[in-house]
Amino acid sequence: MTTAHDVVLVGGGGAGLRAAIAIAEARPELDVAVVSKVYPMRSHTVSAEGGAAGVIGADDSLDEHIYDTISGSDWLADQDAVEMFVEEAPRELIRLEHWGCPWSREPDGRVAVRPFGGMKKQRTWFAADKTGFHMLHTLFQTSLKYGTIHRYDEWFVTKLVVDDGVIQGVVAIELSTGRIETMTAKAVILATGGCGRVFPFTTNAAIKTGDGMSLAYRAGAPLKDMEFVQYHPTGLPFTGILITEAARAEGGWLLNKDGYRYLQDYDLGKPEPTPVLRSMELGPRDRLSQAFVHEVEEGRAIDTPYGPAVHLDLRHLGAKVIDAKIPFVRELCLKYQNVDPAAELVQVRPVVHYMMGGVHTDIHGATPVKGLYAAGEVACVSINGANRLGSNSLPELLVFGARAGRAAAEYAAGASGPTRAGLRQADDEHRRIWRELRGREPNGNERIADLREQMQHTMEGGAGIYRTGDSLTKAVDTLHEFQGRRDQARIEDHSHTFNTELLTFLELSAMLDVAETIVYSALRREESRGAHQRTDYSARDNDRFLAHSLAHRASDGSCQIRYLPVTITRWPVGERVYGR
Ligand SMILES: Cc1cc2nc3c(=O)[nH]c(=O)nc-3n(C[C@H](O)[C@H](O)[C@H](O)COP(=O)(O)OP(=O)(O)OC[C@H]3O[C@@H](n4cnc5c(N)ncnc54)[C@H](O)[C@@H]3O)c2cc1C
Repeated sequence: MTTAHDVVLVGGGGAGLRAAIAIAEARPELDVAVVSKVYPMRSHTVSAEGGAAGVIGADDSLDEHIYDTISGSDWLADQDAVEMFVEEAPRELIRLEHWGCPWSREPDGRVAVRPFGGMKKQRTWFAADKTGFHMLHTLFQTSLKYGTIHRYDEWFVTKLVVDDGVIQGVVAIELSTGRIETMTAKAVILATGGCGRVFPFTTNAAIKTGDGMSLAYRAGAPLKDMEFVQYHPTGLPFTGILITEAARAEGGWLLNKDGYRYLQDYDLGKPEPTPVLRSMELGPRDRLSQAFVHEVEEGRAIDTPYGPAVHLDLRHLGAKVIDAKIPFVRELCLKYQNVDPAAELVQVRPVVHYMMGGVHTDIHGATPVKGLYAAGEVACVSINGANRLGSNSLPELLVFGARAGRAAAEYAAGASGPTRAGLRQADDEHRRIWRELRGREPNGNERIADLREQMQHTMEGGAGIYRTGDSLTKAVDTLHEFQGRRDQARIEDHSHTFNTELLTFLELSAMLDVAETIVYSALRREESRGAHQRTDYSARDNDRFLAHSLAHRASDGSCQIRYLPVTITRWPVGERVYGR
């Protein structure tokens, strides 16, 4: 079956819905499809807690937000992109308010802002600690106004169709029926989110399997800066559930097993009355996660059945503040850890949280494949460089979702329909998925769940908070072997109705691609910068690596790394200094 649309959006999260609205507003004559493997309100954006950064206070300035973002990125962000992002973010947040987003307020009616890690001024807007829920809801209800936006809920995109470097559309499978469909399009926007599930401990929802990154990589669009994986310092040890940075912004402390605020020993400032903007617990995430590893090495962490942990102490805030400012934190701790943070210490550990890298785009969201765009966590523009500052991602979805939407709309308005070769390619993909549904041949004896678990532990061991040439080389070899074993994976479920076994197989395939680009990019980057820390190359090396890595998929399937210079405008490369 084939259906025709002008623009197909893959992803119904924050970036996807913002892009859809931008297209409907800019070009009401265009037909837009939003394809999402889950109902849009279940996209990961819904779980964002802490908030969205945008300059609004009288004591703040655009330049300060730009500087914090660039220095937080360890100078790997493109400065033209950051300038544009910071300028547009407050406008987008106000627009969201006009669409109905209930931002928390000060008693005098002004928008309330809270401090956030690495941000030297208070500029993080929030809606209690359910910011992502309210933002996504606002975008979803706004998107319903437009009759030109058609939704394909619970459809899984398996392939981007590209002929001669030009996008032709996508192939997708309807999960409830097994129906396979070609959706032709003049432009496609990837808004598929991140890939935290490549690692064993993550705050990311089970659906965050890097599908869009793999789709782009296989379609000829390179993946940029994939070696930069962000660990969040405070996840619950067993589940990986996030305890938002807002808990530390409101004054929470991190303690080692001796009850000592150990961050004062890590050049992140000294203990001061809370909230402390410049230092300690509100240092950037990469530094805090690295400090955790040192505490473990020095034997000052707490042993838990799920590995080492430290304590998050919120007791001194009292139940009233916790219930008013971070009620969800209390709820999560009670429900999932059986601990009341108003009265007890909470065990936490660093967990994989966010992918700085992604599909290479320019500041309009355009990839090198004509007509293919990307926005949100799947994309790398890049404003996050080697380390994203917390609360920059939600405004990034809005700013770059809108920009990609407008750019794709303009392109689609002047582009022509699919080529015959494109349609033939789509037919081949139908046959491939059909074969998988009917039963793989030969049906091998590898279990999908085993492969996934082994891949995750390979990534944690080889490309975790600290890496070495040896650990990465080993991971490269093991992943290579997994690619072969994937072809021997067994799919026993042949039903066409919600065939979750086929789905997990497709997701595993995507994760193996993504994992490969992470380890290759990390192996080639012989320096330490932001979230990429090599113990065998412990210094930053601006002469060789003030550059973005680009992972290309060669015709033989191998991963090739090239480099692209960083755009510097007004901020010469400096040292990252916190707490002084
Ligand atoms: C627990 C948590 C808390 C966070 N808190 C904050 C915060 O406070 N502030 C902040 O700035 N950032 C925060 N972040 C980061 C931020 O929320 C995410 O980066 C962002 O929401 C990602 O949005 P997105 O639109 O790019 O993707 P998502 O919201 O993840 O949406 C992806 C969409 O793609 C669809 N999709 C994926 N693959 C396919 C496929 N193969 N076929 C069809 N559809 C597909 C999915 O169905 C989904 O609709 C948090 C992240 C987490 C995990």
